Amino acid sequence: MLDFGLQGKTAIVCASSKGLGLGCARALSQVGVNLVMCARGEEQLVASADQIRKDTGVDVKTVACDITSEAGRAEVLAAAGHVDILVNNAGGPPPGDFRDWSRDDWIKALDANMLTAIELIRAVIDPMIDNKFGRIVNITSGSVKSPIPQLGLSNGARSGLTGFVGGLARQVARHNVTINGLLPGQYNTARIESLIDNTSRQANKSREQVRTELEARNPCGRLGEIDEFGFACAYICSASSGYLVGQNILVDGGAFNAN
Ligand code: NAP
Repeated sequence: MLDFGLQGKTAIVCASSKGLGLGCARALSQVGVNLVMCARGEEQLVASADQIRKDTGVDVKTVACDITSEAGRAEVLAAAGHVDILVNNAGGPPPGDFRDWSRDDWIKALDANMLTAIELIRAVIDPMIDNKFGRIVNITSGSVKSPIPQLGLSNGARSGLTGFVGGLARQVARHNVTINGLLPGQYNTARIESLIDNTSRQANKSREQVRTELEARNPCGRLGEIDEFGFACAYICSASSGYLVGQNILVDGGAFNAN
């Protein structure tokens, strides 16, 4: 039987009441990892955590907070205490034209999709090094490899995070602490619904048409499911993945056409 070697470990999974974060939390719980989950909306967070406890019996703590705030991060770190696995995630920035974005818009995107992850990494990495085990997964986006024109704020902030951790990952790997990026393509989540809305308005097409076109463009002929994404996260976090270092792994149904 394949053993992920993670039984009894503790993970912080950020922004995990639904969507890709929830997919990661679910997969980690299925290999015996205790969780700290967070999201701003408490109701959905508690419901998702209850379901995970019921399904797997792992210990799940919930923190209703904004992970992009200093207070939110402090609360999450305090709830976890010891951290073996950190999955960084937060909501993505809005689409638009860069001519309309002020410095404040950029700072907000950098805070959410670059600096929040770096601050959390800073808080957990030395104890991970001392413990000779740590797994850090940054949920970024396929846009890191193939920029999406209307998502300039996302392209910029996530590339910044990717560049920074690429260097750090190689400094900590000898301590069995790994940092990797997990890059979603297009998934069936609330986030994709808002992008479909946006494209539908701009292209003057129905939502159904935009969705069908999106699905047809993907080599798998469909959008991804969050549990498929979560499985990749659990693999990156497994005890036997210590040689997987500083990579940016696309799970996009083959949408990015390169070897
Ligand atoms: P989603 O379905 O909208 O879920 C987002 C989750 O994050 C929710 O649980 C949400 O709960 C929580 N959240 C958002 N902002 C938060 C904050 N500031 N503090 C704490 N929790 C927060 O989104 P998703 O599709 O899973 O996307 C996750 C990330 O992957 C985003 O950055 C997105 O841009 C990126 N991505 C997604 C896709 C895709 O196809 N889905 C593709 C590429 C990149 P609350 O709203 O209650 O806080």
